[in-house]
Parts: sequence; structure tokens; C-alpha cells
Amino acid sequence: MTAAHPSLTTAEALLADGTTVELRPLGPDDHRAVLDLHAAGMSEESRRMRFFGVSRNAPAQAADRLCGPSRTGVLALGAWAGDELVGEADCELLDEPSRTAELALAVADRWHHRGVATLLLEHLVHAARAAGIRFFEADTLYGNQAVHQVFADLGLPVRRHHARGEVRIRVPLDEGDEHYRSAVDERGRRADVASLAALLRPASVAVVGASRREGSVGGTVLAKIRQGGFAGPLWAVNPHAREIGGELAYPSVSALPAVPDLAVLAVPAGAVPGVAEECGEAGVRALVVLTSGLGPQEAGRLIRACRRHSMRLVGPNSLGLAQTDPAVRLDAEFGGAFTRPGTAGVAVQSGGVGIALLSRLTWLGIGVSSFVSLGDKYDVSGNDLLQWWEADGRTDLALLHLESFGSPRAFARTARRVTRTIPVLTVDAGRSTAGRRAAASHTAAAATPTVTREALFRQAGITATRSIDELVAAAALFHAQPLPAPRGAVAVVSNAGGIGILAADACAEVGLALPELPQGLAELLPAGASVRNPVDTTAAVTPVELTHLLRALEEEPAVDAILVCLVPTALGAATGEDPVRALVEGPARRRVPVVAVLLDQQVPVRYRSCADGGVLPAYSDAVAAARALVHARDRARRLAEPPSAPVAAPDCDRQAARSLVDGYLTAHPGGGWLDPLSTADLLAAYGLPLTTTVWVRDEQAAVAAADGLRGLGHDAKVALKAYWPGQVHKSAVGAVRTGLATDADVREAYREFTKRFGAELVGAVVQPMAAPGLELLAGVVQDRVFGPLVVLGLGGTATEVLADRVARLAPLSERDLTTMVTELRSAPLLFGRHGGAAVDLAAVRSVLTGLSLLAEDLPELVEADLNPVIVRPDGAVCVDARVRLERRPSFDPYLRRLRRPAAAGPAFEEE
Ligand code: ADP
Ligand code: MG
Repeated sequence: MTAAHPSLTTAEALLADGTTVELRPLGPDDHRAVLDLHAAGMSEESRRMRFFGVSRNAPAQAADRLCGPSRTGVLALGAWAGDELVGEADCELLDEPSRTAELALAVADRWHHRGVATLLLEHLVHAARAAGIRFFEADTLYGNQAVHQVFADLGLPVRRHHARGEVRIRVPLDEGDEHYRSAVDERGRRADVASLAALLRPASVAVVGASRREGSVGGTVLAKIRQGGFAGPLWAVNPHAREIGGELAYPSVSALPAVPDLAVLAVPAGAVPGVAEECGEAGVRALVVLTSGLGPQEAGRLIRACRRHSMRLVGPNSLGLAQTDPAVRLDAEFGGAFTRPGTAGVAVQSGGVGIALLSRLTWLGIGVSSFVSLGDKYDVSGNDLLQWWEADGRTDLALLHLESFGSPRAFARTARRVTRTIPVLTVDAGRSTAGRRAAASHTAAAATPTVTREALFRQAGITATRSIDELVAAAALFHAQPLPAPRGAVAVVSNAGGIGILAADACAEVGLALPELPQGLAELLPAGASVRNPVDTTAAVTPVELTHLLRALEEEPAVDAILVCLVPTALGAATGEDPVRALVEGPARRRVPVVAVLLDQQVPVRYRSCADGGVLPAYSDAVAAARALVHARDRARRLAEPPSAPVAAPDCDRQAARSLVDGYLTAHPGGGWLDPLSTADLLAAYGLPLTTTVWVRDEQAAVAAADGLRGLGHDAKVALKAYWPGQVHKSAVGAVRTGLATDADVREAYREFTKRFGAELVGAVVQPMAAPGLELLAGVVQDRVFGPLVVLGLGGTATEVLADRVARLAPLSERDLTTMVTELRSAPLLFGRHGGAAVDLAAVRSVLTGLSLLAEDLPELVEADLNPVIVRPDGAVCVDARVRLERRPSFDPYLRRLRRPAAAGPAFEEE
């Protein structure tokens, strides 16, 4: 076998210290490099210690074993830094029945303690699992602490057997998955943060392409960095100028007196790849590319330069970035926005939105910890920043305006974790709806109308708003006030009855509860006041009375939040007894969050400073205040939920599914719909209950198959369905015949198909008729932002009419299995509340579980549509399933690797 094993892929990934290495399968061309690694790269002692399995082999033998023509069944993966092979991990199947492979590992001495071995192992585990290997075995020397540590840290269970000074290590690859994933996640997070330090905390910066020309991008950024008081050395690079703005300019990056951590590029598009390469050669650690308009060629070269030289990249088409930490003070953007130091992390895709957002935050008084304009996101994405803010110790609020967040599957997982620590708010522009590709299947089309992206964001833990105004309104509340209790019951107070009613309506409309309030509160207020919720204090209320009321409401157990709605009154103006004084002269921080709605306020939201030094968000409109409160309540609910474990894997045959998918995509590189038999095999591998489906190519075979099914004791009747590749809805075109009782019926039906579909007809499937029950649809669709979603809904002919369905991000948790069912409007039908018997809910859960695992394991699965799944008190059976596959470089969210953006060209593309 000279071709690399298909389960081994090429990827770039980060080491523990943030360095990028390339991982690729070793092949015959790498003989020399393997020899060098083992001979020159390692001392005698490390050869003795680090090798196992092949420990007694000389370097030459190792090179032959891994790269020579004789190698068979070896999975060998190398880690490269530029042209240097810095480490190697391989495994070789030892024992076929037990699927045990012997593992070997070698890392160049210079590269020890940087996580090379662990990274290689993770990728090898991934490839080995895909190749059906179930155990790794390795012999290590007893005293080899380093290797024992690698295994202890890996996250998989390790069994050790001691014998004669050696330790035989055995690692089962299919156990302890969640633990392993957490360990991988944690390493990924650390490496990511380490790699971003050069971008967000650089010690020195160069602006390349800075020019003297008034208003030039480079010149502006240079001036802003200087004015911002950047703490470290700052250099200008420009071949045509000796001096810029009073500072010496250097002709090239290599001519600089020292190597900058960060280079900001403002050169013409055509020059970007060359400059990036030069920066990489010089040892620059990170790039911000402000230039826009790069062609595909330039894009590809830029990304490759970054990966090869281990540089993280923001942009291109970025407005720049800002870091307000007093120890750094880097203002490297040309948006003209002034960012004051604070605790909000801000990332935007579009520069214009960035400027708008920053200026509003600044005006409001919310400071920024770091700001990044991500531009075209060739490398650094929203995911990276979430992880940075999670760890930077300065950020307590994250604001994103992005069209996508990086690799969808990684995003969903990262977001779920990060949002447990800090609130993440985003604008859901709603440009793309779940399952945009729709049209071709029920499930995909079905996901669109009713499944709001807002709900999916909520599932990821993210607060999704509909506009920048709403984002800022919510941020104002999150930043200044405590979260309400998860119940989120609001007391609405106003000094004008009609206004109070409108505010109460606004609260009710967003789903906030307005509890009954104790009558005793009336004693605190002027005569004629009403303390039903909304509380009408009457216009005669004095600041003192209002103060007492607020204090009482704050202590009231039925109240989780207070919304105070005030209109200025002539009375208040005349006496100086403006009730707003009760708000600003009291504390801003109370047991429950307080928001003000001030109807005479000219701006949508602003802060009012209070006596305790805190601030109270004041809105000009009750609807905005209510929406902010409901976002806070939703976050409180989310935090109150105990984490729910992901669904556990039942017995599924992953290897069969994997080889089916690989086989199909080899034969159909363009992807497409699986034929009925392959569909049946794939579903069977995940325990999905497709009814017996017999494939036939002519009338005679159809009759025989029907007889056979009857012989098996099925219902005497069968269904016959015509098949041709590319078919969409079968029954609509007369391709489904159900309830066929006799041979003659089957014959007639097949003849009819032949007549109707002519040469198009390829064959048909024969199925037993399933007993009637409730028809559900279940499936998987891919969302551009969120990755795979599992969908459940009312199916069969009712699908489009009733549009009753729910969707969840895969992987599903145990709780999702329950709430998906209960959230359906037709849930009472499933629970048997309408006279019928309850259906087998365990069977429904098992279908959802199977789909979740399918979605998780197979990124190539772009659509799965099970419609209908007929559910009954005694089980569930699917009678119609369609599956579409597309080749996509396998992106396992648990495999640490850098994203490959589409812009870099098809050979370098992903998700
Ligand atoms: P399509 O969705 O492409 O029109 P289906 O195979 O789903 O075709 O068939 C349409 C409908 O026929 C199903 O929703 C179901 O009500 C009924 N049906 C199809 N096959 C069977 C079967 N094997 N047993 C019972 N009912 C069936
Ligand atoms: Mg159908």
C-alpha cells in the first residue's frame, strides 16, 4: 500500500504554545525526513526512551517501515513545521480479530514539551477509529515519565501491564468519549488562546504599507497606534519613504531592527501574499490584513504563508483591531472609533457595523476589552474570539455581529461552553434560514418556516437580537444590572395608567409574566393608586413614595424584575418633585434588576447614574425594555439548567456507515441522493427502524418479493414504490402504491409504473404495509451557521399544512430528546391525550438519538429525511427515507485543526 490510508488527512493545527504545524500522512517521499527525525533530531537517550514498539529499530528501519514500499496497514502521520518533520506517530494493525494496533511515536528533541505527541496522537486516534481499530498498544520503558504523561493527559482510559522493566500500555479507542472530548477541547482552547496572544497582546507592531499620503489606510492606522499610546516598539515599513509622520520608515520587514510580533498590512492586494511570506520568513507571529479585493490566487497564497510560518491572521478586508488593556493599549484600526477601556469584547464582520456598534457603546458608557474587525475571516473567526474572551480575565460581555462564526460544529460546542461564563450577544441578521437548501426534501423545507434561528442561538446559549438597537439595549441591561431569577416575573410601575398598560402589554407579548401584587402596597401610594400589576401610582406620586414602593417591590418574593415607566408631569415640574429622582437617588443595584422607561428620553437607551455609583438602563420605549428583560430572563433560565449529557451511543456500526459513505462518494464525487438500498443500510447502521425494503427491477421480482414478505408473516398487503435517481416527492407523481393485496395488484401497479415513467424507471421497492399510526417526520439538515440540526415534526401528508416541527443542534442532549417531543403542538397526540393511546415515546427518542449520532459522525450527510416515521403504542417504523451526501473534508469538531476557508480555493476548502 503506497497510498496513504483514506482516514488520514492533511490538516494544520496548533501546538500547545500556539505554533502551527502541518499534519500529513507519511509517504515514500518522506523517507529522508523520517530518517533525519530519528537520527539527527533525537539523541541516543531519547531514542531509547521515546521509541516504543519500534524501539529496537535503527532509524533506517523506522524510515523503511513508515515510508518504504513494503509498508502495509500502517497508519503513519507526520507533524511538519515548515519543511522540518518534528514528530511522527504511527500504528500498525497487530491482531485482526481484536482490532489492536501497535503504536509508535517519536518527537524531535527540540520540540519536546510543546504538545507535538499529543496532537499527533489525537489525529491518529481519529484515523484509527475510522479504520476500525479499537485498541492501541505500546511498550514503553518503565522510567519513561514523558511518555506516561502523554498517555495520562490524552483523556482516553489507559491500561498498564508491567513486565520486565517495561510497561505495556493498552488504550481502548471507543471508551470514555465525553472525557476524551473535554480533554481535547481544553487543549484546543489553550492552544488557540496562546496562538492569539501575538494578535491581541503583541509586544511590538509594524505597519506595512504605511504611507505619508493624507488619509491613507496604513498612515491612519500608524497614527492611531501611536496616538493610542501603544506600549511597545512600533515600526513603519515603506520602500518609498524614509520617514513617516516623524518616524523612521524601513524599506522592508526584514530590514526592521527587530522582528515584530504583529504586522498590520495595508499594501495593495497583489502585494499581500509576498509581504505575508516575507513576514513569515522574518518570524512575525500574527497578521492583520486591512487590504480588500484579494483574488482567489492571492487568498490561497496568503493563507498558506500564514499556516506555513505559524501566523494567525485577521482579515483580509478588516478594519483592524483594538486592545484596551493598559499594559498593551493597541488601537490598530482605521474606523475612527474611539474605544474606551472596559469589559465588553466586540467582534464584527463588517467594518461599518463595527463603527456603529463601537460608537454606540462608547456613547452609552460601555467600555471595550478588545475589538476585532474580522473582515473576510480567512483564519481568525468568532470562535477564536469567544475562547479568547473566555480566558482573558477582562471580558464579561461578548458582542458579535457576524454572518457566520467559523466551523459550525465547533461553534455550537464552543458557544455552549463560553456562554456559561459570559453572556454572548449577537445580531441574528436572519439572512440564512435553517435548511436553506430546502426544496429537495420535506425535512429541509420543513425546517425553514417555523424553526427560528433565535431558538437555535438560544440552544447554543447565545442571546440573539434582531437589530443593532436591540443588541445595544440588551447589552445595556446585561452590563449594568443583575440577572433576574429564571422565573422572570415583572412588576410594572407607572405614573400614568395608560402608559403602564402599554408596558404591561409589551412584557406579556415577549412572554414575561406579571404576577399579582399584594394589596398592602397601596398604603405606600397616593389615594387613587392601583397596585394591580401594572401598578398605577397616579401622577401625584412623590419621589419619596416611589422610593418606598421600589424598596417594597424589591423585597417582594413574587417579583423578579422591576420596570418603571415614567412620564414627566406638570406637577412634578412645578414642585421639583420629579419621580425620576426616586430612581437616580436610590441604588442602581438591587436584589432584582430594575429598568426605567422614560417617555421623554430622546435616545433609545442611556444610563442614569445612581446614588450607589451604579447605573440604571433607561429606555425611551417599553417594548425595547421588555425585550432586554426577556433576554436576561432567558439567560438566567439557561444558567439554571443543569447541564444535560449528550445522548449516549447505542450499538451502531460506525465502520459500516463510514465505508458506505466513502464508497458512495468515491463513485459519485459530486455527491447526491443514496439509492434505496444504501439508504436502508446506512439507517440500519444507526439503529433507525426502516421497514423491510426489498429492491426489485421488474414485475416478476416485485410479485416474488411481495409473496416473500407475506410469507414472513407481515400484513397481507404491501406497498410498491417506483424508483429513479433524483426523484423528489414520490406520491405526488404517482410513484407510490399502497395496500396492494394480491399478485395481480402488484403486477398491475408495476405495469402502471412502467407505462408512466418509461425509461426513467430504474426499479422499485416493495415494503410490507405498516399498521396505521401517527405519521411523524424526523431528519437532519445542515445549517450554514449552526451545522447539523435534528428536526422532528408532524409528518405524512400533514407536513406542509400544519408545519408543526422543532429543531435542535446536534448532538442532542438527553433533555433535548424530551423537549423536542413536548414542544410539538401535536404533543398531546403523542401522549394520548386525545382519546388515542400514547405512542411508544422510547421509540421516538431512539429515532432522534440515531439521527443525532448520524449527524455527528458523518459531516458528509447534508440531508436525511425520514418521512413518515409511523409511530404507534407498540413502536415506530419508518416507511420512507431519503439521504443526501456530499463530499466535505471531514471536519470532526473534536479533531483539533485550523479552519480552511473557502476563499483559499477548492483544494483548500472546508465547510
Ligand atoms: P413520498 O413521501 O415520496 O410521497 P412515501 O413513501 O412517504 O412517498 O409514501 C407516501 C405515503 O404513503 C406515506 O406518507 C404513508 O402514509 C404511505 N405509505 C408509504 N409506504 C407505506 C408503508 N410501507 N406502509 C404504510 N404506509 C405507507
Ligand atoms: Mg414520504
